Amino acid sequence: MLRKKPEKTIETSARLLNGLTDKLTEHHSLTLDEYEYLIENRTEAAAGALAERAVRIRREIYGNTVFIRGLIEISNICKNDCLYCGLRRGNNSCERYRLTPEEIIECANRGYELGFRTFVLQGGEDGYFTDEIVCDIIKRIKAGHTDCAVTLSLGERSRKSYQRLYDAGADRYLLRHETADKAHYKRLHPDDMSFDHRMECLSVLRDIGYQVGCGFMVGSPYQTSKTLAKDLKFIEEFKPDMCGIGPFVPHHQTPFKDKKQGTVELTCYLLSIIRLIHPPVLLPATTALGTIHPMGREMGIQAGANVVMPNLSPVSVRKKYELYDNKICTGEESAECRDCLDKRMKSIGYETVIDRGDIKKEGSEK
Ligand code: SF4
Repeated sequence: MLRKKPEKTIETSARLLNGLTDKLTEHHSLTLDEYEYLIENRTEAAAGALAERAVRIRREIYGNTVFIRGLIEISNICKNDCLYCGLRRGNNSCERYRLTPEEIIECANRGYELGFRTFVLQGGEDGYFTDEIVCDIIKRIKAGHTDCAVTLSLGERSRKSYQRLYDAGADRYLLRHETADKAHYKRLHPDDMSFDHRMECLSVLRDIGYQVGCGFMVGSPYQTSKTLAKDLKFIEEFKPDMCGIGPFVPHHQTPFKDKKQGTVELTCYLLSIIRLIHPPVLLPATTALGTIHPMGREMGIQAGANVVMPNLSPVSVRKKYELYDNKICTGEESAECRDCLDKRMKSIGYETVIDRGDIKKEGSEK
């Protein structure tokens, strides 16, 4: 068994890291201790080797294409009080909004003209968005654009609710698990939120038939190599269709306002590892990554990501969806966002495509 901080020479450590990279590439699996070692003892050379493998394996599956998702932030009203989030109900200085169904459909229509074939409806846990209202929106988007996928990211709901939304035509659901360590989860959330319930939601979504996305913040307060190792093991076992990871960025109106933000370096390192754990996974280079580094999204793609999510929300509400401080892309029109990301991807040898961007599973034609 690997010890956490072995008294070994640099060469021995490098040899161990190489061995773990080989094992991960071949078997897509490591033990918890091995994941922890890989994180705790990471070096620039190890990051380079992992990224090189991750990009190679991603190219074999997806070529040089990058999928785009049109993000529509439908409401910044939330009943929850997650300690890290600028939309938490305890933030009294947040100017709240919700889009009308007509505005949401309008964003999707505009997105369709711009070449988007997946729309992600994301929002806080806002009671206004009942099953009836969300089902109606999904049906109208799908009826207008039969070649599109609808992804929901609306937090925890009941099995019955998830089923109704699925039956109305929703294809995918994103629900970040935030951390696979129960004690860590408790330190990031108030007492009325439950780790077990969140994990249960992910199983229910999978069971119903959704393409499911999980994910976590990198560098969140109290995170350790051990908790990250648990996240990786969870991803290895759950095999999500999508996995959203981005650096933790503090928000000035939250209890974590003075906590250190996550790094591009560790986020990219983990993106490479996740690609090797589950090669076909849809892996976004997130806006948070672009927020903490001007080339963050390009660096994410070069580490193994294959999705970007330009914003289709009306510019008038963009600044209000402030999950964390200094979020980028709040001033541009949708067309400019699309254009900007196209150019950014081209500059590093990738191409965004007009495609639903489903996961390519073994034996699938796509
Ligand atoms: S992270 Fe999500 S559930 Fe938690 S407060 Fe923010 S919007 Fe609400």
